[in-house]
Parts: sequence; C-alpha cells; structure tokens
Amino acid sequence: MATLKAVRGTRDLLPPETALWNRIEATARAVFARYNFGEIRTPIFEDTSLFARGVGEETDIVSKEMYTWEDRARAQSEKTQMLTLRPENTAGVVRAYIEHQLGETGQLQKIYYIGPQFRRERPQKGRYRQFSQIGAEVLGPTSAGSESPLRDAEVLEMLATLLDELGIKGWVLELNSVGSAADRARYNDTLRAALVPVVGQMCVDCQRRAVTNPLRVLDCKVPADQPIIEKLPVIADSLDEASKAHFDAVLSSLDAAGVPYTRNHRLVRGLDYYTRTTFEFTHSGLGAQNALLGGGRYDGLSEAIGGPKAPGIGFAMGEDRLVLTLQALEAVAQTKADAFIAPLGENMNPAALALARELRRDGLSVDLGDGSFRLKKSFETADKTARRIVILGEDELQSGILTVKDFASGTQSKVPRGELVAFLKG
Ligand code: ATP
Ligand code: MG
Repeated sequence: MATLKAVRGTRDLLPPETALWNRIEATARAVFARYNFGEIRTPIFEDTSLFARGVGEETDIVSKEMYTWEDRARAQSEKTQMLTLRPENTAGVVRAYIEHQLGETGQLQKIYYIGPQFRRERPQKGRYRQFSQIGAEVLGPTSAGSESPLRDAEVLEMLATLLDELGIKGWVLELNSVGSAADRARYNDTLRAALVPVVGQMCVDCQRRAVTNPLRVLDCKVPADQPIIEKLPVIADSLDEASKAHFDAVLSSLDAAGVPYTRNHRLVRGLDYYTRTTFEFTHSGLGAQNALLGGGRYDGLSEAIGGPKAPGIGFAMGEDRLVLTLQALEAVAQTKADAFIAPLGENMNPAALALARELRRDGLSVDLGDGSFRLKKSFETADKTARRIVILGEDELQSGILTVKDFASGTQSKVPRGELVAFLKG
C-alpha cells in the first residue's frame, strides 16, 4: 500500500517551529489588544457566492483558486448548495458584520482574525494551498468615522509596530491610492485607450484584462510585459480632488508618526472591492513571494454582498511568510526547558514526578527523564532539550540538597530543595 502523505501544498507544522508560530500569534494578539481590537472567528467554509461577490469573479482567487464543492441536501428541509473553503477572511468578516447588524451599534468595529485559508495555487516557497493569515478590519457606518484617513494611517502605524515587535527588520511599506469607484472607472478608460496600440505585444492574460478589467494589467508578472506597463499612465493622475485629499491626509499622518513608506503606482491589489488606500508590506528576505501582507480600503464591499454602507480598511498578513522571514533573519530564539530532572534508579521515579509537578506549578518548564537511564544517557538527553539537569537520587532525597548542572556554563551547584525554584528561575 502506498504511504499516505500530507496533500500537495499542505504541511505539518512540528515543534520546535510551532513555538515560533505561537510567539507570532501571541505578539499579534498583544498588539491588537493595545489598539483595542477584538477577535472574530468565522467558519472555515462559506456559501460560494459570498466569495464570488465579495472577492470578485475576475480575480485569480475566484476564477481559479477556490476549493468548491456541491454539498448535497441531507433532508427535505435542506437544499443542495455550493460551498467553498475560505480563500481569505475579509468577506467572512463583512458577512458576519451584516448578519449580526454590527453597524446598528453606531460604533466602529475593530476586529482581528487568525486562521487557515485555502487556495489552489502552484505550491512553492512561501506559497501553499493551506496557509495562515493574521488580519484585521476596521469598519462601520460613515457616521462613526469609518471613511476617515486617520483610520488608514492608524492601521498602517499598527502594522509597523507589530512587524517591529515581531523582530522583522527591514520591512518596506508600499502605498498607493486606487481612488473611488468613479476614479477607477476614469482610469480604466484611460488605460484601455493607452493599451490599444501595445496590447498586441502583451501576454494572453493581459489581452483579456485589457478588455475586462484593464486595471489588473498592472498586476501582470510576465517579464516581457514590464517595460510596456512602466510606460502606461498612472492612477494618481486620475484621482479627483476628494480622493487626492484623502490620500494626502493618510501620508501626512504617517509622516507625523514617523512611519516610513514608498509610493508604488502599480499597487492595485488583486481584489475588486478595494477603494482609495491600498498597501503592501514587503521583505527582501522572502525572494519571489516577497509580500508579507496586503491590504487596503474597501468602502464598497458591504454593499456588494447585500449589506448597508459600511466603509472599512483592513489587511491580511501571511503568517507562513512571517515565519520564513524570521527564520531567514535568524531571529528565532532556541527554546529549551528550564530543567531536566534525572531520577537515579527506577525507585526514584515517583519522587521525580512529585518534584517535576512542584516546579511546573511554579511556572518552570521541565523535562522528566527516567530512572532506568544510566547517568550518562540522562546527561546526553538533557543537554539536547534543557538548559540544566537536576539529579535526584537516594542521597538527594534524604538530604534535601539537589545537584544541578548548567550546560552553558558547565558549573555544578548544590541547591537546597526550598531554593530550587528561585535558583532555576535565575
Ligand atoms: P500574491 O500576489 O503573493 O498571490 P495575493 O494578492 O494573492 O498575493 P492577498 O490575497 O492579499 O495576497 O493575501 C495577503 C497575504 O497573504 C499575502 O501578502 C501573503 O503574505 C499571504 N498569502 C497569500 N496567498 C498565500 C499562499 N498561497 N501561501 C502563503 N501565503 C499567502
Ligand atoms: Mg495570490
């Protein structure tokens, strides 16, 4: 029988690497709490039409990357429906916002999520079919100030803080504005006209986009198309006064807070519901898949999926890519247990368990050996997983004085049992 393996594009995360995942998630939760965001957990699968409408039929995600199946009715009262594993979480958050009438509170909703997403893509480094995103959204009725450029700047400043606290050195924030729906329509016309004489020399995808959604030509990654794209008109020249003022206000708040950024005229994002501010944080350590996160404003999304007007801004960071970046920066601390308890002889096992219980209840991380190990084997095992070894034999039990060896310094100490916790925490 062939051995079973994890499905292509999926992987097992094993210790000790999972400690890094946990640290990233704990740091994100702590930062989000300081900005007064609360957590949402939406279902892993949703009605397919949520993504068709909320992400957009023309996007790569909806047109070719979704895991969709027909879920057959189990009872008369049910109907067969098309379901999809979520490829992203913003549509689910906005669906929940609408479903629970969160807009009725009149307050801004500041929500974050952490969890797996699914896209049928070609797997490669930093690109998987199941991957994890950490994201946040700020949305609400216009009366709550959801359209304010200060919301955009605050989200970007929060991201700069989060990446700094994670230890991701060398991130770059790239910013653009794709304007209002009207600005984009105007820019699309300008682009369509500019593409007429050159599109024949471009890739087949661009030839299709030039007709259906010219804006997305800017997303093209085909090398031969790049010189042509560089010469196309930029969207900044198609923004109306209100969109320009909004973007300028975002930039001046970032300047005041000291958050560095660069402008990128080609940053238009793959998703249809984005308006005005759009951004990406990149890192050179990632190679080809260099985007750590992407996001932007989506003032039209709620209405696109049948809800009330609820402008918002949000982002999604690729947690897998944060892990890769931290590993490349070697910013990953080795995690070892505080102590390894080595019982000398199997008759010492019960006392060793009692000692381990005491130390663990005091917050220390402890590995417990086995009295059947020879002392040499206990030392070798302990050296791999713990910072120190604590030896517990008949003598130690009687005298209440334990022998502790610190592997890094090589020093051996006699420590009274009553002082052991303080000693190991030192
Ligand atoms: P790309 O151009 O890399 O495909 P995207 O526009 O599809 O990115 P978004 O939908 O904005 O990406 O997702 C936000 C972030 O989620 C990305 O910046 C990236 O860090 C991460 N991400 C997206 N797709 C994957 C994937 N298949 N595997 C791992 N991380 C991913
Ligand atoms: Mg993609």
